[in-house]
Amino acid sequence: MQIIDGKKISQEIKDELKEKVERLKQQGKEPSLAVIQVGSDPASSVYVGNKKKACAYCGIRSLAYELPEETTEQELVALIETLNTDDTVNGILVQLPLPKQINEDKIIRAISPQKDVDGFHPENVGKLVIGEKGFVSCTPAGIIQLLKRSGVDIAGKRCVVIGRSNIVGKPMAILMLRENATVTVAHSRTQDLKAVCKEADILIVAIGKPKFITADYIKEGAVVIDVGIHRNENKKLCGDIDYEDVAKHTSFITPVPGGVGPMTIAMLMNNCVEAVEM
Ligand code: NAP
Repeated sequence: MQIIDGKKISQEIKDELKEKVERLKQQGKEPSLAVIQVGSDPASSVYVGNKKKACAYCGIRSLAYELPEETTEQELVALIETLNTDDTVNGILVQLPLPKQINEDKIIRAISPQKDVDGFHPENVGKLVIGEKGFVSCTPAGIIQLLKRSGVDIAGKRCVVIGRSNIVGKPMAILMLRENATVTVAHSRTQDLKAVCKEADILIVAIGKPKFITADYIKEGAVVIDVGIHRNENKKLCGDIDYEDVAKHTSFITPVPGGVGPMTIAMLMNNCVEAVEM
């Protein structure tokens, strides 16, 4: 069994990006990311802080917009429209969730698809589906990097993705299809989930339930990717997979923390650099 080290792989990617950014700067191109946070949710503040730190590490200029909790939808759209037309800004990210007076779908659609580094705009989702170049949602894009950089063969393998959210499950399934896996998407209405998972050479779990997946869901020697992040009663982080129970039956597994988590920000940085190159 091999543990896939997301910390190490994300560091490699950030180091590669740092070099790329230096080269871009020599050509007079400076990548920049505008990060908008509405309100002061503590978890969002931590995520925003980590994104700024990663930008600084890679040499990407970051602009922070901290708007008050009572910001209206029109005010937020107006700021996004200003940033859409600002040639010095390559990427725009609005930290989710937003306060309830703001419709998230409307905000996602307000961001120019060419600056949508989160890959949530319907135009980018459509491009992903038909195989055109566009921005890809960071967490699933990071999982593809984890698999490839760990030497896992994807083509022809049976892959089961549990979860069909717009930000993880669905784009994940499409990316695995693009890599020529035979893909099954499971969800809360799937019958006999255990039997479905037992077919998987590669099992990707984004179910949002702590330690839900135990050894009896795993085909011996499978590659297992855990997207879930939870804090247990002792404040320790855990994933959707019962790691202690499952790990010994796998060929490769991602831990939580230190697996998928660090890849999301690395891929956001990658999208910011691609935004300049596009
Ligand atoms: P989500 O929107 O809650 O989606 C969960 C999915 O799991 C849904 O499609 C749901 O099915 C399915 N599901 C729920 N219960 C199930 C069951 N008993 N059997 C089979 N399927 C079931 O969650 P998400 O946003 O995709 O996130 C999933 C997890 O990943 C969360 O723990 C989240 O915190 C974590 N996450 C981590 C990162 C990272 O950077 N590491 C990024 C994003 C998310 P239905 O569609 O039928 O309801």
